[in-house]
Amino acid sequence: MHTYNTYAARSAKAPLEHFTFDPGPLGPEEVEIKVSHCGICHSDLSMLDNDWHMSKYPFVPGHEVTGTVSALGEQAKGLKTGQRVGLGWWSHSCLSCHQCLSGDHNLCSTAQGTIVGRHGGFADRVRAQWTWVAPDPRWARPGEDRPVALRWCYGVRAVPGSQCAVHRTCGRNRNEAEAYKLGAHFVHNTKQDGALKKIAGSLNLIISTVNAGLDVPGLLDTLAPNGRLHNVGAVLDPLPVPAFSLIAGQKSVSGSPTGSPTAIDDMLEFSARHSIAPITETFPMSKVNEALEHLRAGKARYRIVLANDEA
Ligand SMILES: [Zn+2]
Ligand SMILES: [Zn+2]
Repeated sequence: MHTYNTYAARSAKAPLEHFTFDPGPLGPEEVEIKVSHCGICHSDLSMLDNDWHMSKYPFVPGHEVTGTVSALGEQAKGLKTGQRVGLGWWSHSCLSCHQCLSGDHNLCSTAQGTIVGRHGGFADRVRAQWTWVAPDPRWARPGEDRPVALRWCYGVRAVPGSQCAVHRTCGRNRNEAEAYKLGAHFVHNTKQDGALKKIAGSLNLIISTVNAGLDVPGLLDTLAPNGRLHNVGAVLDPLPVPAFSLIAGQKSVSGSPTGSPTAIDDMLEFSARHSIAPITETFPMSKVNEALEHLRAGKARYRIVLANDEA
């Protein structure tokens, strides 16, 4: 008998408590990861609160796992015991449908989220299908042994040279200064009168990470012809999209559910090569409720990471 030690909520919005369970025998395609760290994403809060009406309780959050492979199913491929790996939002897909065979595993209609009907990474161990367990290239590089939570949810690609905007909720001047420090060329506070008009017709791509209501007509007007407003923030209200705003400049509105395993590998390799790492705040796993409150209060700067004791 294996026992996994986790932190789980018994009901929506409840504090997390110590919770153990027996996951049963390891499936042939499964990998067991000994969790060293797990990032906290806003989706963990949305699932904890059952905002998306698909949470099951007891609910164990955590879908930005880093750790080491502690056991491999007999058909798990491409990984070794003891290897440093990461696991993101998805943890299982069928591997036989058109999407999976086309390399778009994240579009598989039966893909399973790491915390949707499964127990996630606020735990000492977590399981996933080998396809979704990514070797962490940072660990393979000399001097790169820092614990890093992998921010996969918003891993994105933009065409070099294009005017790409990341739209996120700010509102404090301090955030503006921080955005410049993080490498932004321009910061526009879209809540200020006339701010959107000033950049009208100039952007090729907007990636929206906002999970609150958006001024979609205003944002579409900031796009250049053929521009795109891409959504990765899970706004619950429908987006108001005027057809004329799309037609005139041949613009589009789109979304995506994180990325395929190869897109994740490419993003990790790119990040490792260019030393791109998130700015993190670390809490011990046992202080998970304090960490969640810190996030709820809007105080996170920027990724909260939970660390297991032995890490
Ligand atoms: Zn997430
Ligand atoms: Zn599939």
